[in-house]
Amino acid sequence: MDNSVRIRAAVCHGFKEVLMVEELDLRRPGPGEVTVAVSACGVCHSDLTYWSGAWGGGVPAVYGHEVAGVVEELGPGIVGISEGDHAVVTLIRACGRCRLCQKGLPALCEQMGALPLSRNSPLTTVGGGGVVQGLRTAGFAEKVTVHESQVVPIAKHLPLDVACIVGCGVVTGAGAVLNTAGVEPGSSVAVIGAGGVGLNVVQGAVVAGASDVVAIDVLAAKLAAARTFGATCTADARSGEVEAVVTTVTAGRGFDYVFVAAGSVPAVEQGLGLVAKGGTVVILGMPEGMRASFDPEAIADRGVRVLGSKVGSVRPQVDIPALLGLYEQGRLKLDELVTHRFALDAVNEAFTAAASGEALRAVVQL
Ligand SMILES: [Zn+2]
Ligand SMILES: [Zn+2]
Repeated sequence: MDNSVRIRAAVCHGFKEVLMVEELDLRRPGPGEVTVAVSACGVCHSDLTYWSGAWGGGVPAVYGHEVAGVVEELGPGIVGISEGDHAVVTLIRACGRCRLCQKGLPALCEQMGALPLSRNSPLTTVGGGGVVQGLRTAGFAEKVTVHESQVVPIAKHLPLDVACIVGCGVVTGAGAVLNTAGVEPGSSVAVIGAGGVGLNVVQGAVVAGASDVVAIDVLAAKLAAARTFGATCTADARSGEVEAVVTTVTAGRGFDYVFVAAGSVPAVEQGLGLVAKGGTVVILGMPEGMRASFDPEAIADRGVRVLGSKVGSVRPQVDIPALLGLYEQGRLKLDELVTHRFALDAVNEAFTAAASGEALRAVVQL
């Protein structure tokens, strides 16, 4: 039997160049690996960042890491996943055994780079040339071969074109609130940046029982969206509105929790200025190489905690079913996030819709 299957995928041959949908060979699953037929893959800002070259990596590459699909083939030694299962596939590849995995932090796995898929991409050109498996998934393709830790079986009645976005954007935002920060009921919460991740911080804060959820952004359309996702108040980041909201919402104390979901230095510095004494600032995904300035004395004297949140401190097998359960109960909006859908052949239009901010989430369907 052939050790690889022929698939169609959206290939990046050069940063910022048009993606080409072409045939590639995908290695079939080895021990501890799974091949999933892709039904849908959301476009995340990390895909755009890699495509732009800002995070380095090689080309040719296939991006896409918010996948839902149907399990097609299991490698040897898989327990708990069956052929035909519906599944969400995430970029969190974890050994399950190292110290950080055992502490419940698989996104920080110490052995991830030692796993066979991390050392050898399962993708090649038809001629046998190397192709990078972008974000450990390469989801803008008919099929993916990933590590078993990346595959989360889900109920078959869930819509795959909506479930896919839980795999990164939703869990990054909601997980920052529920896992990383552990926001308590009655807390005041501010979110800087009301894009795809920020809206899910808003939703997570509502689920956590926050009394006030303030969204801060520079675009009126994003602030309007934040209100529909549960923000109790919004403020334009570049006006005096933010100071006014600190006064009216928190009696001038500042917020118990401030989430920085806008990848910019001014957003981080603004966040440190909005937090209450004893409060917590959570910094979500950031571009590389930035430096922010802050007053360490103020952080120490005011007892402020500053936390980093990588993919919402996600534990995929716990959090993805939990978030989909909230969706089924009507407590988490997912249908409303998927505003744009594209065929694989229209993947470049999907990137444009995501980059422009026109789409809350653009999803490529296969
Ligand atoms: Zn590990
Ligand atoms: Zn992502």
